[in-house]
Amino acid sequence: MSAPLVEAVIDLDALASNLAHLTRSVAPAQLMVVVKADAYGHGSVPVAREAVARGIRSIGALDLDTALALRAAGVGDDVTVLAWLYPPGQDFEPAIRARIDLGVSSVAELDEITDAARRLSRQPGFLPPRLHLKLDTGLHRNGATAADWPALVSAAVAAERAGLVRTHAAWTHIAEASEEEDTRALERFLEGVAVARRLGATVAVRHLAASSAGLRREDVRLDLVRMGGHCWGIPSFDGVTPAQIGLTPVMTLRAQVLAVRELGEGRCAAYVSAGYGDGVPRNAAGRVAATVHGVRHPIARVERDHLVIETAGAELEPGDAAVLFGPGSEGEQTVREWGDLTGTLGDEITTRIAARVPRRYVGGSGPAAVAEAHGA
Ligand SMILES: *Cc1c(COP(=O)(O)O)cnc(C)c1O
Repeated sequence: MSAPLVEAVIDLDALASNLAHLTRSVAPAQLMVVVKADAYGHGSVPVAREAVARGIRSIGALDLDTALALRAAGVGDDVTVLAWLYPPGQDFEPAIRARIDLGVSSVAELDEITDAARRLSRQPGFLPPRLHLKLDTGLHRNGATAADWPALVSAAVAAERAGLVRTHAAWTHIAEASEEEDTRALERFLEGVAVARRLGATVAVRHLAASSAGLRREDVRLDLVRMGGHCWGIPSFDGVTPAQIGLTPVMTLRAQVLAVRELGEGRCAAYVSAGYGDGVPRNAAGRVAATVHGVRHPIARVERDHLVIETAGAELEPGDAAVLFGPGSEGEQTVREWGDLTGTLGDEITTRIAARVPRRYVGGSGPAAVAEAHGA
């Protein structure tokens, strides 16, 4: 079988090593692996499965479709799966049946959840859903404002007394843009937790930090840290390589040299089988490189289905493998470098790799890896 024109190779062993490192780094806080946006292009189901196989007990899904897909794929209810963003009119019944933890930002959302819980409460096996009450500490994205917080908590406590929900966690999201702002958000959050407890809510788990602050600052880890980017080996703060913070990039984007044209004066242009239709940013041209046989060649143009690298004197041939980004082991740039050089985040680049690009999973603790370990 010939190699595909373009593929994203997802190294599950690199993922496992990142998760082990991050778990150790944030302990005794727990690590929640956030697999929203299809795990930033890495594939939410395979990534979540591998994470669970490696002992992760907490997954952040963002939306309920993702959360339910994880349960359907065998992520059992010994694993916390948290959703927190809902379209208006969301039907919460499937989520309650599947024991999804529910982030709640407003009394209106809480009402929709308790309505669904009431409908299900007479059925055998009904378990009141666990709530993560969300406070807005300055990001103004979602979450209850400080003014609305006591009303949200009191309504949740009342619903708990009616046997419809369980109060469980309090959380917020911080900007991770400045230390002072994050410190203020932490203070506001801890005040909110105190208020919630005074009003009778159980706050067994407090969480607010994501990749950046969670790795840098012990004081913001509290009971749980929610990480996406760092799990995939993409540093989310400036001035470090993945290796410097103990991480390995998980995704390698590979394509092939399709044709080589002489340009004269010893220069040639090589056509490589990945374009903006595959998610390569158009402004990669003139900024980043593709690597062939360990040598980086600047990308000169990005078209829909291919890109062009221009090179002086290099001997490139059709069929040569071109690595766009990866862990760096073949001389290639990392996706974080791509992000820096194209004015975006590495996260954004992996997330935008198109659905048409096949994902190939290597390593990991799945049946194939287990068979290999046993010499099969
Ligand atoms: C996306 C997201 C995260 C993870 O962010 P990273 O910076 O990728 O670690 C954590 N929490 C919430 C609420 C998010 O939406």
